[in-house]
Amino acid sequence: MGTVEVVENFVSINGEGRRAGELAVFLRMKGCNLQCSYCDTTWANEKDADFTPMTKEELYAYVKKTKVKNVTITGGEPLLQKNILEVLEYFAKDENLRVEIETNGSVDLKPFAALEHAPSFTVDYKCPGSGMCQHMCLDNFSILTEKDTVKFVVGSREDLEAAKTVIENYKLQNRVAIYFSPVFGRIEPEEIVTFLIENQLNDVKLQLQLHKYIWDPQKRGV
Ligand code: SF4
Repeated sequence: MGTVEVVENFVSINGEGRRAGELAVFLRMKGCNLQCSYCDTTWANEKDADFTPMTKEELYAYVKKTKVKNVTITGGEPLLQKNILEVLEYFAKDENLRVEIETNGSVDLKPFAALEHAPSFTVDYKCPGSGMCQHMCLDNFSILTEKDTVKFVVGSREDLEAAKTVIENYKLQNRVAIYFSPVFGRIEPEEIVTFLIENQLNDVKLQLQLHKYIWDPQKRGV
């Protein structure tokens, strides 16, 4: 039976995204193909990170036991898990769950978007400061819909400019939700607001990672 490698699972609030502030059950998968300069989950990406192999039935049973509707599947890069498609297909049968995939922008989303009840995608676009922007799968922009989100994690003026260029080139406004999220400790949120004003960037939301303000920024499992 196929399993996925789960490094942690817990209930908290969504720290970001469309359902920020709402309860969510988190399923964090092991491993990532990128190495962003600001990664705050490097421990989950280590080759020897502890994990629990879980089947789709076990994951689903855990989620249902929490009685929480929002399910955030994250990582690492969750879409690299060999059996993730069957997990998503299984979860899609339950219309009471709202499944969101947090993906790092480097994985082709076509096979996942083709699911009958596709989850919503929150796609990171890695700006230059991450050191990873050359790995972005730009074809993904054409298959995202209004239920999906593009998140730009920005740490500098250069990152802000890069995000603006991508929004314009791929005509993201009014097509998907767009968030600018500051790299914690690298850029003041106020600078992002100034940039939005200067560039008349309507339909872009500044997003602060709530969990970093509520708990210690290094704390796991929140
Ligand atoms: S994609 Fe996410 S998990 Fe992977 S290295 Fe970058 S920040 Fe870390």
